[in-house]
Order: sequence, then C-alpha cells, then structure tokens
Amino acid sequence: MNKLLYRVFTYMLFAIFISLILVSSIEMQLLDNGKFLERELIAPKELSVFYNFINDYVNLRGYVEGHTLSELMTTSVNEIDKTYQLNDIVAIYSSDGKWLPDSDMSIDLTNAKKYYEINNNPILRILLPNQLPKDYYLSQAKTLDRKEVFVVTSYGNFGYETLNKCIAIIYKMRFFTIILALLITFVPVAISLAVSYLIPLKRLRRAADTIAVGDLNFNIRTQGLDEIKELGKSFEYMRRELEESRKREQYLKESHQQLIANMSHDLKTPITSVKGYVEALLDGKGNNPERMEKYLKTIQSKTIYLNAMINDLFLFSQLDLGEYTLEKKLWDSAEFIKILMEPIQLWVEDAGWHFEIRTPIPKAPLYIDMMRISQVMENIVQNSLKYATMPGNLTVECAITNHYFCVSMSDTGIGISQDALPYVFEPFYREDDSRSQKMGGSGLGLAICKKIVELHGGQVKAESELGKGTKITLYFPLGHY
Ligand code: ATP
Ligand code: MG
Repeated sequence: MNKLLYRVFTYMLFAIFISLILVSSIEMQLLDNGKFLERELIAPKELSVFYNFINDYVNLRGYVEGHTLSELMTTSVNEIDKTYQLNDIVAIYSSDGKWLPDSDMSIDLTNAKKYYEINNNPILRILLPNQLPKDYYLSQAKTLDRKEVFVVTSYGNFGYETLNKCIAIIYKMRFFTIILALLITFVPVAISLAVSYLIPLKRLRRAADTIAVGDLNFNIRTQGLDEIKELGKSFEYMRRELEESRKREQYLKESHQQLIANMSHDLKTPITSVKGYVEALLDGKGNNPERMEKYLKTIQSKTIYLNAMINDLFLFSQLDLGEYTLEKKLWDSAEFIKILMEPIQLWVEDAGWHFEIRTPIPKAPLYIDMMRISQVMENIVQNSLKYATMPGNLTVECAITNHYFCVSMSDTGIGISQDALPYVFEPFYREDDSRSQKMGGSGLGLAICKKIVELHGGQVKAESELGKGTKITLYFPLGHY
C-alpha cells in the first residue's frame, strides 16, 4: 500500500508542477499578445498600454537583476516614459525610506532628489509608501544583492477599475488553468491506478470466482504494484496447491479403486482354483490316490498363498491407515546388521548364491523395530532370489550420508526396466504380471517395505539395470546414544 501512496503522492507533485508551468506559461502568453484580455476589456487601446507596460515592467525586473539600479533609473525608466507617456512611472527606494539608485550608495531622499535634478530627470518623483496617491500602485522587487526595492507605478490612462478587472480576469484564468492542469494530470493518475491496482484486482476477483466454481486449470498472471503482485502470487500458489491436492485426491481415488480391483483379482484366481479342485474331489475325480494327493497339494499351496496374501494385505492396510505401531529399540548399527543378516546369509547361501557384507560398517545409533525390518530385508532378498535366472551375488553395503544410515542390497538378477522402476513400491505393482503370478508374488512386498521404513522416519530407493541387477537402499535416520 505504501507504494500506492508514494505513487499518488508523486503524481500529485507532478500535477502541481504541471499546473505551475501551465499557469505561468498561459499567463505569459496572455500578457504577451493580450488577446484574452482584449476580448474581455472594453477599451483595447488602453489595454494595450496596460500590457505593454506590464511587459516593460517584466523587463524592468529583468533589468534590475542584470544591472545596477542607477543604470535602470537612467535607461528603462526614461524609455518607459517616452514610449507610453505615463507620468510618474517609477521611483525606487528601500523599505527604510532610502532611495537606491545604486546598491553601493546609500543616499537619503533629499540627496536622491538632488541627484535626479542634477541628471535632469524631471519625470521622476520620489514617493514614500504613505505618500502614494490613489492612482499609483506599489510592487516589490529585489536587487541582485537581495535588497528590497519598490517599484511605484501609476495606473496610467486606463484607471484603477480597469486594472482591477484585468486582475480579476487573471485570477479567474489562473483558477481555470489549475483545474485544467489537475484534470490533465488526473488522467495518467487514473490510468496508472487502473493498470496497477484496479485491473489486476478485478482479474484476481475473476480468478477467485473461477476457483470457487471448481475450475483450477488456468494460470493467474501477477501484475501491478508489488502488493498486488504478492497477492497474485499467493493466489497462484493457492490455485496450484488446490490443483495438486485435487490431483492427489484423484490419484488416491484411482489407486484405491485399482487396489480393490487388484485385490479381488488376486484373491479370485487362487479361490477359483481351490473351488475347482474341491469340486473335482467331491465329484469323485480324486479316486486315484496319486491324483487326490496332487489335488490336495495344489489346494494346500493355493491356501498358503491366500493366507500369505491376506496377511500381507492386512499388514499393508494397517500401515496405510497408520494404525500400526512399531516397537523400536536403540541398536548399534554393527550389531543391527549382524543380527539382521545372519539368517539371511544362511538362506541366500543355501539357495546357492554368493553373499557378501562390505566392511567396515559405519558406527551409528539407530532406533529400529528389528522384527519389522527383518521382514523388510526378507522381502527384498526374496525378490533378489525370485527375479534371477540363476544364482548370483548378493552384496550388502552400509554408509552414513546426510544424517541417514543407509543399507543397500545389490543383486545380480534380471533387473527392472527404467519404465517400471518408479512404480515398484506401489501396492500390487508387478513388472511382469504373468511371471510374478507364477512366482507367487502379490505385488505387496516392496509396498510394505516402503511403509515400514517410512514409519521409521526413513526412505527407500530402487536402482536397477535390465540384465545386470537391482540395488535397493534403505535410509534410516540416525538416533542418539
Ligand atoms: P510379493 O513380494 O508381494 O510376493 P512381488 O515380488 O511381485 O510380490 P514386490 O516385491 O512388491 O512384489 O515387487 C514388485 C515388482 O518389482 C516385482 O513384481 C518385480 O517385477 C519387481 N522386482 C522387485 N525386486 C526385484 C529384483 N530384485 N529384481 C527384479 N525385479 C524385481
Ligand atoms: Mg516381492
């Protein structure tokens, strides 16, 4: 708002400045050619004497500034008298009654009289202010050395009333000129205010109306004064936030729907096959013991899968709803890795893989729910073993970066394509649906890992190259001993 006041103030100063220039230039114009006054006055002849005199008076003042007063007295005054035959035109004396023919001299009135008599100047009469007759008027001026002087002038032939009329006209004209100047300057002020204040505000109001009816798909332009620009930026920020949250909401809605669709599909397939085998058994198709065993084994494996999946789903929904509470304990990083990796090493080596933990393990205090993080590691290692064509290497590496303790597990499996990589932590995401299903994956493993690590205040990251392998890194915030 300050800027606005500053601008209005500047425009006001500008208006005053323009008014002054206009007033003085118009006044000069009028005095120069007198057309305006001529129209207004009855006796143009008298008038011409008047404004010619005014012109000379102006010149006279100029003369005062440029020359000594004695020069002024002997040249201008005589000339004025000769040209306009106005009697008793000028006398110049100081306010203390001293006549001032020259700023260096201080001659009293008697001497002055003498001086002019000597110089044979009959037209000059010396008058004190209280001696001024009715038809004379007095104006003030200053000499170069800042001494005050008075110019005494007779109204001449055209008289006191005419002069007053002229003066009234000049005042009237001055008033209208000021109004005109104010109007002229008001137009840019009004335009500037409209451009920098009203138009952007109107635009913001329209934007608010548009947002109110739910349309967020537009940009709010930020224009105008700083304050308005800030307001515009806030509006644009608010619009973008709303747009983002709407997108998020939409995404959540869609992913929720997708989740339900995936869940039903994943549950339906094994249940259908269990149902089929049970019906076959009931129909007596399992009279052959070998076949019966095969049916029962299939039913068993399907129910194991269903059970695991329901457990995963239950855990995932608890984590997703934030209803799961961790049982964290303070661990030393080396001890944590040792306890975590011992069973994994056995498992991996039993599967024919080469297992390595890179040392040294950086020392750090960590708050960990060991049970849950073991589950996370199992999910990750299970993937490494599952998504590999043959046994390879599994390497564990630990580091401390940016206040996080990082544990990464790199395998030499089939890898994940760059297109799929951003989605592997999404629930039910499987890069190759048919292959994963064959391998018994539900697509919840990494989603659960992510939720558990995030519940620890950490993060997960996946890097991979097709045909080379995958690296999953877990970041845990550092604790305090
Ligand atoms: P679940 O773990 O629930 O049994 P899943 O293994 O299919 O099922 P995630 O563990 O979440 O699900 O993994 C998601 C997908 O990421 C997998 O289907 C697979 O395509 C890919 N993936 C994960 N880890 C690896 C890996 N180490 N190598 C190659 N692909 C992987
Ligand atoms: Mg998995």
